[in-house]
Amino acid sequence: MIDAYTAVTGRGVIHHLEQLATPLKGARVVHVNSTREGGGVAEILRKLIPLKQAFGLDCRWEVITGEAPFYQCTKSFHNALQGVAQSISAPLLEAYEQTNAKNAEGLRKTLEEADFVFIHDPQPAPLLALCPKRKGKWIWRCHIDASHPYRRVWKYLKKWVVPYDASIFSLPEYAQALPHPQYVIAPSIDPLSEKNCELPADEVRAVGEELNLDPELPVVLQVSRYDRFKDPLGVIEAYKLARKLTPLQLVLAGGGASDDPEGEAVLNEVRRAAADDPDVHVLLLPADAHRTINALQRLSAIVLQKSLREGFGLTVAEGMWKGKPVIGGDTGGIRLQVINHYTGFLVRSPEGAALRMRYLLHRRDMLEDMGQRARRFVRENYLITRHLREYLTLMVGLLYGSQERIEVGI
Ligand code: UDP
Repeated sequence: MIDAYTAVTGRGVIHHLEQLATPLKGARVVHVNSTREGGGVAEILRKLIPLKQAFGLDCRWEVITGEAPFYQCTKSFHNALQGVAQSISAPLLEAYEQTNAKNAEGLRKTLEEADFVFIHDPQPAPLLALCPKRKGKWIWRCHIDASHPYRRVWKYLKKWVVPYDASIFSLPEYAQALPHPQYVIAPSIDPLSEKNCELPADEVRAVGEELNLDPELPVVLQVSRYDRFKDPLGVIEAYKLARKLTPLQLVLAGGGASDDPEGEAVLNEVRRAAADDPDVHVLLLPADAHRTINALQRLSAIVLQKSLREGFGLTVAEGMWKGKPVIGGDTGGIRLQVINHYTGFLVRSPEGAALRMRYLLHRRDMLEDMGQRARRFVRENYLITRHLREYLTLMVGLLYGSQERIEVGI
């Protein structure tokens, strides 16, 4: 497995990872989140955990589960952390705490014995308080744009997060007033996963045919859960404006995450908005449609991610890795990846997105150049090997931080 990464990144990067992993050999590491598929966190963990194992860590992935009120509550937390005022009723908060208590029963031994526990997002945050005999370091990993959280909800969540040994945010702007060290680690994509690996041209073409895309029209694509923060209606509006200026077709590809209860309502709104146009393709894909998404990103001319809030936006890195310029909402983690006028364009309105689509579709030379720069930018900054290096560095730091000298492997 490691050899395959060597082919992408070069031997030096892998050697560095081996050195950093040496003092962590056999360390028991547990990651906990609330869904095994759908959304960026599951996408990352699916790849990061086997890679940590390949470097000798005893790493596992646990998923907490709950009933509808739990997910309703945690979706409100998500919206609140992204700045929207939310009123969360006492019974929903009780469902949140009880669901964590119930999950803790089965997980307690594993978590208390682990050397490192990474708790992803607010869903499992109370687990620390439920594991009083914990031995290892606990890290809260927030994937959400928490730069301007709705204060009342953050005040509630903070009480669960304060006792952690450290927290990780994707951007410096997301860091909060917390009494422990905070680290900034951006997410990543796996260049060897089904979502991102090279695909034969035939397979890419076949996906276009299967989905009845017009082979004569350039494709503009947005891949995302049906979530209002991803602004799918704004994407349709942008497409409708662009269509008056240049021929194109739009693909909105999404699926549900099992911990996202709002998806169906948003999908229905999107279907209504797209109903009158045969060149808008609204796709509801199964959770394992990674190769289909890979092919869609490859057959597109432009990738859109017109989010209104975005913690990071793996779909941006995925599109860029396929050599596509990305037109992205000027927000959060999209700004890390889309360097305006260089790897794509940052936009603040459907009109802005429409004008950029028109520009790129008329200037194919610029589209190509931007796409190539986008791919190089992801190679340098957002591959899983960089992500693993930062996780290993953090773990070594937390284990040996007070020592003057740390011996890593040679
Ligand atoms: N994704 C998918 N199927 C879908 C929609 C999204 O596999 O129908 C993937 C997408 O390719 C990306 C991840 O889910 O890898 C979404 O991560 P992102 O950070 O863009 O957004 P999030 O859903 O975490 O807000």
